[in-house]
Amino acid sequence: MPRTVAAYAAFDKTSPLGPHTITRRDPGPTDVQIDIRYCGVCHSDLHTARSEWPGTVYPCVPGHEILGTVTAVGDAVRKFRVGDTAAVGCLVDSCRECDSCRSGLEQYCDNFGFVMTYNSPDAHLPGQMTYGGYSAGVTVTEDFVLKVDDSLDPAAAAPLLCAGITTYSPLRHWGAGPGKKVGIVGLGGLGHMGVKFSHALGAHTVLFTTSAGKVADGHRLGADEVVISRDADAMAKHGRSFDLIVNTVAASHDLDPFINLLERDGTMVLVGAPEHAHPSPSVMGMIFGRRSIAGSLIGGLPETQEMLDFCAAKGIVCDIELIRMDQVNEAYERMLKSDVKYRFVIDMSSLR
Ligand code: NAP
Ligand code: ZN
Ligand code: ZN
Repeated sequence: MPRTVAAYAAFDKTSPLGPHTITRRDPGPTDVQIDIRYCGVCHSDLHTARSEWPGTVYPCVPGHEILGTVTAVGDAVRKFRVGDTAAVGCLVDSCRECDSCRSGLEQYCDNFGFVMTYNSPDAHLPGQMTYGGYSAGVTVTEDFVLKVDDSLDPAAAAPLLCAGITTYSPLRHWGAGPGKKVGIVGLGGLGHMGVKFSHALGAHTVLFTTSAGKVADGHRLGADEVVISRDADAMAKHGRSFDLIVNTVAASHDLDPFINLLERDGTMVLVGAPEHAHPSPSVMGMIFGRRSIAGSLIGGLPETQEMLDFCAAKGIVCDIELIRMDQVNEAYERMLKSDVKYRFVIDMSSLR
């Protein structure tokens, strides 16, 4: 018998999120059933809840930074036992057969067969969509459940499942490390993890922020330098000097000032996914310097586990504000004002 659990949902693109009840499947042989303790609030939740990206199906239960306790496992489950800490990120399944999936890059599934944690059709419960972590419990196939070391504070570890891996993956792919100059644009949920990881990987790390009030925090989080990106003179001092810039900004903005900061063969990776397109980057800025603009999507399962293990080894977690479930609408409004220090995490005991 599928069970019902308490949740919070968006019912249309303009109303506040509110209480809802959803159905979760009973664990099959390879499934792990999790009681959710904490769920981070990602800007993607807001984009989706408000239909800023195409395709939201209502009611929509967001949340893909899930950490909880295993309450049941299927007969074939090997990695998890009842009582273990377990985590779920942005994906709950994929085709598992294509070249990308077999390479552990499920987020780039060649068959578009990846199943997002929320707002994807749910193959197990036909006719309904997948529902995310703004809920009391979830059932996920073992291969898409991650292990989080119990030495990490569980509430502060939850946002590693999206904000963490989304910045870790491009930093690793484009070789952030000693001798490299790396910029992180935007100090929000993703950006503050980008600063922490870039610093931990040994790169010279520069934070670009629009918020003068975040300069001290930028240094505290690990930035060697902090630049107010609206200050043209301060920007000009860094001209043609960056190997890599990871841009996490959640709104449309002019990319050219950052392109001009890349050295020859430098790359700016866009991870921010705003509702409206950026104004076109200058072709000349790209040509003169053989510079690249790239994109990057979350991370695959093996790299997400690698990131979680890296965090356990280095004692890295997110800086969070713990909120009750009924404060999520207020949290969304603060996120839109760039007023997040630096990730909201919902204490799911407030839902029960
Ligand atoms: P967030 O916590 O709201 O942080 C975004 C930051 O961007 C803000 O704190 C602010 O930093 C800066 N910013 C906001 N509006 C700006 C503007 N108009 N101009 C310049 N800077 C601005 O959001 P998040 O959760 O980190 O997510 C960031 C973006 O990444 C979202 O679009 C989200 O959907 C996307 N995302 C993508 C992936 C992926 O796989 N690629 C995964 C997760 C999220 P300052 O105050 O420092 O300027
Ligand atoms: Zn996210
Ligand atoms: Zn695939």
